[in-house]
Amino acid sequence: TGIQELLLSRIRDVADYPEPGVMFKDITPLLADPAAFTALTDALAEIVVSTAATKIVGLEARGFILGAPVAVRAGVGFIPVRKAGKLPGATLSQAYDLEYGSAEIEVHAEDLAAGDRVLVVDDVLATGGTAEASIRLIRRAGADVAGLAVLMELGFLGGRARLEPALSGAPLESLLTV
Ligand code: 5GP
Repeated sequence: TGIQELLLSRIRDVADYPEPGVMFKDITPLLADPAAFTALTDALAEIVVSTAATKIVGLEARGFILGAPVAVRAGVGFIPVRKAGKLPGATLSQAYDLEYGSAEIEVHAEDLAAGDRVLVVDDVLATGGTAEASIRLIRRAGADVAGLAVLMELGFLGGRARLEPALSGAPLESLLTV
């Protein structure tokens, strides 16, 4: 469709970043184009409506850039999920495995509660490890996961299949798949 062509045309492929052999999808040209950024915000805000989400969780750092305007547009709250050690209040944390080593993400415990329906927003779905950990975190906080929305899904990395058990029926909406 037209909007998919617009979005795709504003994503830059950067070879060998952050390490040799990786083709990084750089969304900064999209952010710099107000027509494309607005179209993306509108498309993600429609997913808030279709999933009946009442809150957005954005994943550090590009999930903040995309999730915040969507929250304002849709009229729901925005909650940052951050890398460990960045949030000042009482947190829940969730560790997860990376290709080499592990990582940990956190959320302010008081930001999520039973009855919340949370849409997780990020820019790119790769292996799904980050999204899976965020879904665990949201459920441990007592909230429901309404879905996961990403700008781009890297299909060849198998993130969708990996996330299926964690999502347990909640939709994974990707605007673009490569
Ligand atoms: P995963 O946990 O799914 O392997 O990795 C997803 C996380 O890494 C996301 O937070 C995403 O922002 C980042 N990421 C991985 N690959 C890319 C990429 O090619 N482009 C961008 N913009 N982010 C990426």
